[in-house]
Amino acid sequence: IVTVKTMLMPRRTLGGTGLKVSVLGFGASPLGGVFHPVDEESCTRAVHAAFHAGVNFFDTSPFYGATKSEMMLGKALAGLPRSEIIISTKVGRYGQDHFDFSAERVSASVEESLGRLQTNYIDLIQCHDIEFGDLDQVINETLPALIKLREKGVVRHIGITGLPFSAFHYVLDRCPLGTVDVILSYCHNCLNDDSLVMELPYFEEKHVGVINASPLAMGLLTKQGPPDWHPAPLALKEAAKAAALKAEECGVDIAKIALAEAIKTPGIATTLVGMATFEVVTANVTTTLQAFGLVPNDVQSQEETAALEVRDALKGVMGMTWPSGR
Ligand code: NAD
Repeated sequence: IVTVKTMLMPRRTLGGTGLKVSVLGFGASPLGGVFHPVDEESCTRAVHAAFHAGVNFFDTSPFYGATKSEMMLGKALAGLPRSEIIISTKVGRYGQDHFDFSAERVSASVEESLGRLQTNYIDLIQCHDIEFGDLDQVINETLPALIKLREKGVVRHIGITGLPFSAFHYVLDRCPLGTVDVILSYCHNCLNDDSLVMELPYFEEKHVGVINASPLAMGLLTKQGPPDWHPAPLALKEAAKAAALKAEECGVDIAKIALAEAIKTPGIATTLVGMATFEVVTANVTTTLQAFGLVPNDVQSQEETAALEVRDALKGVMGMTWPSGR
């Protein structure tokens, strides 16, 4: 069963990197305990279950759980074949309000991440939440430092991440093509906000691969609701709660509807979902395979009805976001 699922999981090429990433990516921020407490055994089980189901793309950051996510992921991946795994981590963000995009810090940061991840190269290194940094410093100092590491083969590809598209535009409009290989956008391709889709032609023009993260809007589109730190305005939180209840009344989990919609978006190589338990991995792998019509879905019509109800509950907050950065 495991082998069949591994073969079924679709893969897409991430921009010009040549990396063939699974359409479902493993978001490892929950391994840092940022959504709920975690233990090593269950994290390892989750990571292994994902890998055996064909998920080959794992994203973390030193910021998640103050390096705990990287450590947990490193321990879990140590038992798996490195050449079959694509690891993404980040530089520049080290705490809620602690950013440092200097060349010295980011170079040291990559070394530290290599140790925690128990590897001698990182497939994708990303500048984490650039809108909180000085964007000119990112262009003139951070990216050149990472390019040196890319030339040495310590990191294979370079990316930038953030919430407002304006930050991506600022950087990509000022760098030669090929400087940035990938962007990671979050909370902009989910049931309550599809603004990323309009940006895809721009990213294609800039020759960057696109990663979509947080299809569940960082927990808003789940039965259990978002964590306390979630930055969404109250109106959005309330609408998401109402939408989750509507789905539940239809006998469907809103997380399933949300992931199934996001993961099929053309032009997006992979969708990162935060996962830290075997059960959540299993549910999301099944949703992915069903969304692509690769395994049967006995409750599809029930889900379609629920999706209409959910969309209706969210229509008043469509596109609502929150401030992020300087
Ligand atoms: P998400 O939208 O993936 O939601 C994660 C939450 O949903 C967690 O609490 C998780 O346990 C829960 N969940 C996942 N699947 C579920 C299911 N089937 N049923 C019920 N609950 C479920 O948000 P996220 O984790 O913030 O984003 C995914 C990943 O993307 C992150 O882990 C991280 O790797 C990456 N990311 C990066 C940035 C950035 O670089 N700035 C920002 C956001 C996310």
